[in-house]
Amino acid sequence: MSDIIVRQLTPDGLIGFDKFGQLQAKEVGAEHTMSWIISDVREKTCVICNHGWELNHKSFKDQHYWHNRKVLIHESCYKRYLMLSEWEQVYFNVCSLNLAFPEGLKERKNEYGGAWNLPWYEFEWNGAETFTIVIGRRKRVWHMEIQGPTPGYPGLPDLDYRMAEKCFSEERVTKEFGPTSVMVHAWTDEKMLAYLKKFVRILGLEKPVEKVAE
Ligand SMILES: [Zn+2]
Repeated sequence: MSDIIVRQLTPDGLIGFDKFGQLQAKEVGAEHTMSWIISDVREKTCVICNHGWELNHKSFKDQHYWHNRKVLIHESCYKRYLMLSEWEQVYFNVCSLNLAFPEGLKERKNEYGGAWNLPWYEFEWNGAETFTIVIGRRKRVWHMEIQGPTPGYPGLPDLDYRMAEKCFSEERVTKEFGPTSVMVHAWTDEKMLAYLKKFVRILGLEKPVEKVAE
């Protein structure tokens, strides 16, 4: 098969123009050669890192069209941006629960595995080490889960999933209730916060309201 690239842009021949003048990126595998049209990012600047692209295939392939802003950016920058903003959304919502979580948010494996495969988060708090709350992005929703110990484990409290069922009875979302796990999908950041507050109630972590001295 003849090479799709007729005019090389990088010395290794992996980026170049086809006979129609479109810029192509190529990947040569053991059995197949793949190619796809990319944008010419010479002279362009990524709005996230404020840097441009280097004229080599690794850098040129690292591009992403940010539809909302209609600009080309580095794919790696966009991933990092998404990851940090997700982290911040989760962090702020968890902070507003007023629980002590000295370890902060801990990264864990994404159990959904979307295109970007960004990390999920979990946290533990003082006084309830037997339960973990897990929050992570799954396409357009937040996966939210309380994970608890095996029911009846000596010395550990059981997860009150019956109460959880009642707490979420009004919510028309994907949800699952079992003795070791309570899981719901939240469609917005506001819902994520509302559901976190329900989690707090289910786990009995609500602090008594302090009376303000008059
Ligand atoms: Zn960048």
